[in-house]
Amino acid sequence: ESLLEMRGISKVYPNGVVANAGVNFSLREGEIHAVVGENGAGKSTLMKMMFGMEEPSEGEMLLRGEKVRFRSPQDAIDSGVGMVHQHFMLVPSFTVVENMILGMEPRKGLGINRAEAERVTRELSAKYNLHVDPNARVEDLSVGMKQKVEILKALLRGAQILILDEPTAVLTPQETEELFRELKLLKQAGHTIVFISHKLKEVKTLCDRITIMRAGRTEGVFETASVTEQE
Ligand code: ADP
Ligand code: ADP
Repeated sequence: ESLLEMRGISKVYPNGVVANAGVNFSLREGEIHAVVGENGAGKSTLMKMMFGMEEPSEGEMLLRGEKVRFRSPQDAIDSGVGMVHQHFMLVPSFTVVENMILGMEPRKGLGINRAEAERVTRELSAKYNLHVDPNARVEDLSVGMKQKVEILKALLRGAQILILDEPTAVLTPQETEELFRELKLLKQAGHTIVFISHKLKEVKTLCDRITIMRAGRTEGVFETASVTEQE
């Protein structure tokens, strides 16, 4: 039983580029699942469909066995999907808390005020060992810290599934180690993680399963059990 499943997904962009050509992808609840492939393999496109940034041209998407259609990122967020973008979607001149509540409308019980956002930010930050200062200005933060803010933002919006797009591309080796520790904590707390990368070697130490993409297709999925057992 999959938490999220992409069945026979194709995506043709308006210019005729076939970015996904019959992709099958299955995400199990509670796993860290890497999607690996070279530049142009179609990873970003697949990820954008999971987050409602693009709609499939063909195929279907199932969430806990039910067909879903994400017409916008808000649809994905409402379904418990969160995204950590490669180029962070944060307002540099705002503080962490201001960024946390930005765009959160008083709908579906999600409307929260500044004080509450600050409290939740501290709480989540402590729980997942993120060490984010709610009152720091985003422009003063390191890249690694900005990424933590993005993770917190997704969590605050109720993300159960967290998608990270090439999250280590901008990180130092030390920040990468930190991120991996945080992701393992998130997994322990029951979150499911999709980790997009073009570096197979890197994801082997972190992920439970790896889906390989090539030329717009999923070539296969394999387990990294032998690697995780050593930890
Ligand atoms: P990856 O993330 O693996 O590098 P992408 O999904 O970004 O792969 O790209 C797959 C293919 O689709 C590439 O040929 C890319 O140039 C093309 N592509 C990506 N986004 C668009 C777009 N918005 N319009 C047209 N072609 C696109
Ligand atoms: P990423 O792989 O992180 O999406 P890119 O530099 O490949 O970064 O793409 C940047 C943006 O341009 C993305 O939104 C992508 O969808 C779009 N894009 C990529 N390739 C093409 C293309 N051939 N034609 C039009 N847009 C594209």
